[in-house]
Order: sequence, then C-alpha cells, then structure tokens
Amino acid sequence: MTSLEEQKRALYERYKRGRLIKNPLVLEAFLKVKREEFLPEKSRHVAYVDSPVSLFDGQTMSAPHMCTLILDYLELEDHHKVLEIGAGSGYQAALLAEMVPNGQVVTIERIESLYRFGKANLERAGYTNVKVFHGDGTLGVPEEAPFDRIILTAAGDQIPPPLIEQLATGGILCMPLGQRPFWQTMISVRKTEDGKLVRKDLSSVAFVPLRGKYGVGS
Ligand code: SAH
Repeated sequence: MTSLEEQKRALYERYKRGRLIKNPLVLEAFLKVKREEFLPEKSRHVAYVDSPVSLFDGQTMSAPHMCTLILDYLELEDHHKVLEIGAGSGYQAALLAEMVPNGQVVTIERIESLYRFGKANLERAGYTNVKVFHGDGTLGVPEEAPFDRIILTAAGDQIPPPLIEQLATGGILCMPLGQRPFWQTMISVRKTEDGKLVRKDLSSVAFVPLRGKYGVGS
C-alpha cells in the first residue's frame, strides 16, 4: 500500500496535469497542509482519496479538488483578510492560511462540537493566523470586518446581507447558491467602488445546507 505522502503527491500531479487550477501557489498550499490531521482518526487513511469525508453531526469535509478550486476562485493575495463560513474540520481554513501568510483568516462554525474539533485541529497544526469563532456565520463577524475575501462552505439561497456589508470594496465573495441538495452553483461576486455586485457563475457543486438567520431552514 502506498503511503499517505505518496497518495498526496499523486493527487498533486493529477491536479497539475488537469490545469484546472490557475494559481500555482494553490497547489503548493495543498502540499503543505496535512489533510489527515483534520480528519477523525477512523477516516485518516482516506485523506487523499478525492472525495468528501463525513465529519460528524451530518456534516462533511469537501473533496480536496473542491477545496483547492475554492482557493483558485478567490484570487487570493498574501496579505488578504479572509472570512470563512463553516469552519468544520478546519482544513479549508488551513489551506486559506497557507495562501495568506501575511494576512489573516477568520472562520466561524455554528455546531459547537465541530467548532471545538476545527479549532483544536488548527491549533495542533500550528496555525497562528487563524481565528475560530462559534456562532451563526450568516451574520458574519462584524468586529473583524472588513474582509477582502469571503467564502461560504455551505449552500444558501441568497447571499446573506451582513456578508455583503462586511465585504471590502474590490473584495470577492464565493458561495454555493441554491437550495436543492447536491445541485448548486458556485458563484463569485465582486464588490465594485459604487457598491454594486458583479456576479460570475463558476461551476456546479454539492454542499451541505447553510443554516442560520439568512440560511435555508433551521
Ligand atoms: N470548511 C469545512 C467544511 C465544512 S461543511 C472543512 O474544511 O472541513 C459546512 C459547515 O458549515 C458545517 O460544519 C456546518 O455546520 C457549517 N454551517 C452551516 N451553516 C452555518 C452557519 N450559518 N454558520 C456557521 N457555520 C455553518
């Protein structure tokens, strides 16, 4: 059996050959983060199988190809301040942190057990530029705003208005938009000088539902 390190290298080579990812720093970040360290003990052996993994409380960690595509969609720069809604395991936040070594990542999770799991994983892995919050991410984290980039890792049917407010001018927000399970559109919006949002539809995706005040259902 090949080691996790070899399986990771094979995925990396596949992504590189696929050329879907435009920014080479994204693949460097993928190599740096140990996905196995963000998974429950029993799932670590599948860390580099390219599929989502169940965490707990019915939530999942996205497949590595999705996590890396998100980094590409966000057009990150090393000094950016980024907000993630849906911390889960902390893996996506760790990837984001690798992309913004001179910036900061703020991530928020509504399920308390997952909040504690993600926070512990990020601390154990030594990420000092990530702050983890517990609460309803559709309200954003006003005390940390504005954010250059915002990513939602759960699907809603509208862009939560507080997040638009907390997005910096020129900033980009990405989210899976749509209510149907397993069929949503990943969109990005850029906030222009005059406060308008310029939308792009990026790809078809499958995410768990965004809950909370501006989410879908309770
Ligand atoms: N980014 C995570 C994947 C998380 S799955 C990772 O890398 O592992 C989506 C997460 O969004 C779930 O943990 C879910 O509990 C959380 N979530 C859903 N609605 C939320 C909300 N309103 N505020 C904060 N977190 C939310």
